[in-house]
Amino acid sequence: MSPIRRFAPLVLAAFAVLGAACVKLPLPPPDGVAYDILCPVTGTVSFTDDWHAPRSGGTLHEGTDVVAPRGAPSVAVVDGEIKWAVGAKSGYAIWLEDEDGNEYFYAHFDSWAHTDAAVEAERDVVAGEVIGYIGDTGNALGWPHLHFEIHPDGGPPVNPYPSIYAECTDRNE
Ligand SMILES: [Zn+2]
Repeated sequence: MSPIRRFAPLVLAAFAVLGAACVKLPLPPPDGVAYDILCPVTGTVSFTDDWHAPRSGGTLHEGTDVVAPRGAPSVAVVDGEIKWAVGAKSGYAIWLEDEDGNEYFYAHFDSWAHTDAAVEAERDVVAGEVIGYIGDTGNALGWPHLHFEIHPDGGPPVNPYPSIYAECTDRNE
């Protein structure tokens, strides 16, 4: 066999690998619990399973980063009560609590949707109601996205990825 013939399969294999890298593969199926919530961001979004990914300061990521264009509306994922908050890392943030005590945390908004917003103030919202606009406040500077957490019964956070995977359309596929 000539050297060219011998190497041809290797070259083809290399192209196959490179080609595959250019195709957006379906996201890996989640293996956790998917909660009955809406997608927290309207319009086209992208995300990965970044639960417990290493973050600055030796911490682990405790949510899912849902990437969307700056200004994209973010909505309440369930009926409940929102509380506005501001943090050095979270930027303009919102806690949403439903009637069962489950809590959902939103971070990095450029702005809140309500004109009466005030830190620690409360307001009833319905699922699908716009509560904020995607931005990069806090430690998201330069990367507009929503940092989203789920806290069942108000306890420690669980991986939101299965829920995001189930509910958010136009995802990376
Ligand atoms: Zn995040």
